[in-house]
Amino acid sequence: MSALVLGHMNPDTDSIVAALAVADLYKKLGKDVKACAQGKPTPESEFVLKKFGLTAPEVVSDVAGQDIYLVDFSDLAQAPKGMDSANVLGIVDHHKLGDVTTSSPLLCWIWPAGCSCTVIKNMYDFYGVEIPAGIAGAMLCAILSDTVIFKSVTCTEDDKKAVADLKKIAGVADEKALGLEMFKVKSALEGATMDELLHRDYKDFNMNGHKIGIGQLEVVDLSMLEPYRKGLQEEMAKVKADGREGVFLLLTDIMKEGSDMLMVTDDESIVEKAFGKKPADQHVWLDGVMSRKKQVVPNFEKAFK
Ligand code: MG
Ligand code: MG
Ligand code: MG
Repeated sequence: MSALVLGHMNPDTDSIVAALAVADLYKKLGKDVKACAQGKPTPESEFVLKKFGLTAPEVVSDVAGQDIYLVDFSDLAQAPKGMDSANVLGIVDHHKLGDVTTSSPLLCWIWPAGCSCTVIKNMYDFYGVEIPAGIAGAMLCAILSDTVIFKSVTCTEDDKKAVADLKKIAGVADEKALGLEMFKVKSALEGATMDELLHRDYKDFNMNGHKIGIGQLEVVDLSMLEPYRKGLQEEMAKVKADGREGVFLLLTDIMKEGSDMLMVTDDESIVEKAFGKKPADQHVWLDGVMSRKKQVVPNFEKAFK
């Protein structure tokens, strides 16, 4: 049976494209692998796949007994069912090291870059394998998505260099225009249910025994989320009631470069402890905060210690 190449729960564009790209590279290196995902692509990912003529990875929800490569995560909280009996052969990631462990040596490419696809670009180069134009275009979009068109504090020189190379391979003239087009698609709210919106980019974390959920919606203009706030908070309360201490949702304005954090939590003081700002009416504006990974998760982790 083919080894699965699999990104995190509630897959974002990086998780989807990284699975496709790593599967492409490993197949060319003679490995028997298959790109998979823990769910359907978001509207943003669909836009990217369509634009570059790619097919969405197969959806899997249970990996019991399977060989797997993880992309874009190494946290068990973001893994599918059956992880305890799965055999992890490798990890490609750009997050803090999670709690996945293995019984055999594994192939790891983990860089402190802004996007898994930046690491993958360097893997293709390392192995001397050409990147197909469509995959290069999708990888470029994943990098623009994860780094919020280079504006996020997570963006590194490696990301910029990867984009400079990938745009040539993909034949993309203006990557910033493409990035903005993609974020406009990402901002689309029409027809989405509150459940979909909250889970579009949502992750659970176990912070020193405290289970919390943190979602993020990145939009080109925060005011478009105004009519959704109440419904989102009701949805967050439902998710919290399912065994969590708190659920937080970052409403990120990529133009104003900051996030309004909505919260439903047992203890709002943890927010003040983490960010030095007191929430009012179950939300707080965090100026300059655009990255969950670098500007939100570490603060909460410290506060929960
Ligand atoms: Mg991701
Ligand atoms: Mg990523
Ligand atoms: Mg992201």
